Amino acid sequence: MKTRKPVIVVHGGAGTWNPERSQPALEGVKKAAKIGFDLLNSGGDAVDAVVEAVASMEDEGVFNAGCGSTLNIEKRVEMEASVMDGKGLQAGAAGLLRDIKNPVRLARIVMDETDHVFIVGEGAEKLAKMFNLERINPIAEAQLKRYEQQKQALLEGKFELPKLVNLIGRYPELFSLETVGAVALDTDGNVAAATSTGGFPLKLPGRIGDSPLIGCGTYADNQSGACSATGVGEIAIRLVLAKTVCNYMETGKTAQEAVEEAIRLVNRRMSGTYNSMGLIAVNLRGDIGAAHNSANLCWAYVTPEMREPKASLTAKILK
Ligand code: ASP
Repeated sequence: MKTRKPVIVVHGGAGTWNPERSQPALEGVKKAAKIGFDLLNSGGDAVDAVVEAVASMEDEGVFNAGCGSTLNIEKRVEMEASVMDGKGLQAGAAGLLRDIKNPVRLARIVMDETDHVFIVGEGAEKLAKMFNLERINPIAEAQLKRYEQQKQALLEGKFELPKLVNLIGRYPELFSLETVGAVALDTDGNVAAATSTGGFPLKLPGRIGDSPLIGCGTYADNQSGACSATGVGEIAIRLVLAKTVCNYMETGKTAQEAVEEAIRLVNRRMSGTYNSMGLIAVNLRGDIGAAHNSANLCWAYVTPEMREPKASLTAKILK
């Protein structure tokens, strides 16, 4: 019997959203939230909802995921994504993807069709081929332009790659972080989370961030709730941030209290490091949470009481 009221929250990334990009981004998160919510409303499960919401943002071209992915230092795209089903703790992730149109769909194939959790590189490409996943050229015009600007800054000696962390502290405007993610509660009371990214701009080839790592960028458990993270992946990895948010919810915090507590943890434990982060969550009662210490968090949500998704460029900011 369907007993729960469905809820979905999506994000289009933490970072700084400048005015020219913010309108299409707000439209993009609203559209994704609506796609996920309509699925939930018609009895679809939480996994379908988060995968379809994230796939829609991967297709948008305005987010750092799918066809809007940022470029690494070699001017190539290496995308990654993950999904987790709170029912039975099933999870799937894929990384180092060059031309898969929807990395989140490959993450789902890893979860549903293999005995593994995380597949990268050539193996992942092979799997995508077996399942006839669509390919694209993910190098978007806007990203090429941004790459050239970032490279120019490098050439002018404005920053030095081995000191990337210091560097971002000094020039945070060089790096806008806009991964996508979604969390949902379905009418059966199951939660799910999914996250997808092009990764960190000018990252070294082979670098894996938090987005495909279960517990770091993505976590869902029917005993606590679901969380998707965005921001500096290395911080979320060190603090196992998405699982930390779920732990907080499991011990009785609301989704909002849990994401705020986790951002405070980031501020406390990672002070002195550039640590722009954003988090969204849903708990088993359908309470939602969103918080960040970055300038912006592009996000949207829908609950059964609402006629339309609500989108914003900020949530609770905790410095
Ligand atoms: N967390 C992602 C990464 O570090 C970046 C982002 O959220 O935009 O790869």
